[in-house]
Order: sequence, then structure tokens, then C-alpha cells
Amino acid sequence: MVSDNPSASRMRPGCEISGPLHEDSMSSTTEVTIRLSGLFGGLALMAIWEVLAPRRVPKVRRARRWMSNLGLLVFNTVAVRLLIPLTAVELAVMAERNGWGALHRWSLPPAWEIPLAVIALDLVIYLQHVLFHAVPAFWRLHRVHHADLEFDVTTGLRFHTIEILLSLGLKLAAILALGPSPWAVLIFEVLLNATSMFNHSNVRIPLGCDRMLRWLVVTPDMHRVHHSIQRREADSNFGFNLPWWDYLLGTYRPQPAEDYETMPIGVAELRDERLCCRLPAMLWLPLRSSRASPDGNDR
Ligand SMILES: [Zn+2]
Ligand SMILES: [Zn+2]
Repeated sequence: MVSDNPSASRMRPGCEISGPLHEDSMSSTTEVTIRLSGLFGGLALMAIWEVLAPRRVPKVRRARRWMSNLGLLVFNTVAVRLLIPLTAVELAVMAERNGWGALHRWSLPPAWEIPLAVIALDLVIYLQHVLFHAVPAFWRLHRVHHADLEFDVTTGLRFHTIEILLSLGLKLAAILALGPSPWAVLIFEVLLNATSMFNHSNVRIPLGCDRMLRWLVVTPDMHRVHHSIQRREADSNFGFNLPWWDYLLGTYRPQPAEDYETMPIGVAELRDERLCCRLPAMLWLPLRSSRASPDGNDR
């Protein structure tokens, strides 16, 4: 799942790590610059690529969808800032200073510690994603991501606010247990945002190139299978960043039953564009019926 803190870090007055942020590791200005460059650079790059080499012909008008998906991103960023007093990087700074977490016991050099921490955090996100499909209450929240009727770069930034808050809570717990460095956490979050924008994008990648890339990163074709209207296909390819967990844990599906270019995208019981692709209706989707009527309309 995409990082829950796509923009900047901030400090709370009176917090234990107040003063110059990350004074041992990085400046807050550096962190903000890296985050915003990753977000806007990735968004612009994939948007241009989608125009130059689209994989599918969109059926829903882009302007309104994009406004809603990006509007939800802005709303989530503000909500997280207001409701959660600590960012993942700030907690990693605290853990580093206090020696909390497994990795701080081993004193590994950054060349080992950062990749190890990124891979471990990616496994946590994979497992969280499986959980959000398996538990009906969590699936209702995660359906907001899947209910997008198109599949493009903005889909990768579209998650229900409560899912984002739960995701951040789980990540904070993982950081306490694992003890990754602040740099490892920042790199993981920026990487996860970038790969999420990449693997949700509506871009055409030559088949041979896609097969090679799939050894290293989840590709758009691979993740598009996960957005199939067919539930058995949606319950596969859970990786957001690294594809290895799907290979190792038996959840990999190489391709959809239908063609990539014509396979229906979305959730069977949620097909109304006014509900699925517009704010604020998208925020109420978890409360809607989970049954599909025979004519395919939501009840
Ligand atoms: Zn999913
Ligand atoms: Zn997705």
C-alpha cells in the first residue's frame, strides 16, 4: 500500500525529538525535498508516459477522476497530520536514539541495514495487503482503492482515509519492532510511493521488458490483474513494490483470464461512476452494500 505520508514531515511542540529534525541523520528540509520530488516527479513522469504510450483506452473522463483521486490524497495528508502525532521517520529517529528494535542491536553498516530494512518493511506491507482482502471489514475500506473504474497513476494514490490511518499505525509498530534507520524508512516510503504510481499506471511496456522487470518490481500489467473485477484475480498479486512475496507465498497470477486491454477493472458491486469516482461519495463506499444486483448495479 502506498505511503501514508506523501508530503512532508513535521514536528509537534514538546515532542521528545523536537529541535532540528533528524539532527543525527538528515535535515527536515532534505526530507521534505526528497518526498515532494518523488511525489510530483513520479506523478508527472507517469502521466506523460500514459499519454505517449497508453495500455488501455479510458472509458471514464479523466479530469473528474483525477480531481477526486488527488483530492482524496490531499484530504488524507491533512487528516494524518491532524490525527497522528508522529511520522514514521520521527519514530525511527526516536528508536535510533534509544536503541529500540532488532536492527539497532546488530549495528549493521548502512549498505546492509538499509536494503534489509526496506525488504522487511515491504514484507509487512504485503502481509497487510493480504489481511485487507481477507477480513471483510478491512476489505470494505480497501474496496475504495479497488472501486476505481479505471487504472492509472492516480489509482495508486487513492485509499480510504481510515485505511491510511490503520496502515500508518501498523507501520509505526513495525518500526518499533524492527528498528530501521530514519534513512531506511524515508527511502522505503519514497520508493513505495514511486512504485505504486508506476505499477498502477496505464502504460504499455513491451512484453519481454515486462517479464524482465517482474523479477525486480511489480509492473503495471502484474498489478492490473489485482484490480480485476473477478475476485479470484483480485485476490492475487498483492505486492506493491517487490514482487518476490507473491512468488514465494503462492499468490502470483501471471495474467488475467481476459486480455489486459479489455479486462473489466473495479469491484463487481460498485459500478456507478458517481459513487466510485467522485468525492465525497468515495469516502462512503465502505458503508455501501457488498452485494451486486443482477444488472450489475450497486444496491
Ligand atoms: Zn488490493
Ligand atoms: Zn492497486
